[in-house]
Amino acid sequence: MPTVGPAADFLARLEEPNHVLFVQIPKPLRGFIMASIESGILLIADISGYTKFLASSELEHAQDSLRSLLNLIIEHTRPPLVISRLEGDAVISYAPAGSFQQGQTIVEIIESTYYDFCRARELMMLNTTCTCNACRNIPNLDLKFFVHFGAFMLEPLHTYTELVGTDVNLIHRLTKNSVTQQTGLKAYVVYTQAAVAALGIDRIAESMTRHAETYESIGEVQLYLDDLRSKWEQEKTRTRMSVQ
Ligand SMILES: [Zn+2]
Repeated sequence: MPTVGPAADFLARLEEPNHVLFVQIPKPLRGFIMASIESGILLIADISGYTKFLASSELEHAQDSLRSLLNLIIEHTRPPLVISRLEGDAVISYAPAGSFQQGQTIVEIIESTYYDFCRARELMMLNTTCTCNACRNIPNLDLKFFVHFGAFMLEPLHTYTELVGTDVNLIHRLTKNSVTQQTGLKAYVVYTQAAVAALGIDRIAESMTRHAETYESIGEVQLYLDDLRSKWEQEKTRTRMSVQ
């Protein structure tokens, strides 16, 4: 639901973190803004490759696989990352600015989550004898991550904490992109330039692929792509060699 009127103006001004504390809160929002305003890392982990055209029995099998893979992602989303909510096949989390002592930590969290996701997927493939469309589709399930840094409000709701703000909108928009179409990558991490700068991972980002996406009313967004599949191939070779 797009935000309009004073709320939109207010949220737009959140883009300037230094000004956040001096923003005068418009009257209609005063109750709502009892929520805190923060800046920090926003992270979305999104499972892709799910086939939508399934019979109801197959749908159950698909849900079982997705649930266990979602649980795996949730278990890897540890402090300072805080889970905001689950949305479909995605886990949305955040971490207040400065809570990662080293920006590299989040890069490593993402990599280890992906490696464990791949291991779990391989086990599921080995352990299933079912030939339904959902089970045959398990090898196609994959994982994408989106990392952005910006301002957001935390709005506590009944069972979860909603993240609100233009930077939150941006990271959601990033999940719809032309990455696979343009680069062939299926498992990847998208870092925004703001995330790279805030995490101080410029050196690490040098080995990533530069990419840009254009969104209506936002314009061009500069991004860095990290290829997770090739990292997983290297990881497998590395672990195989250390076992021998
Ligand atoms: Zn099945």
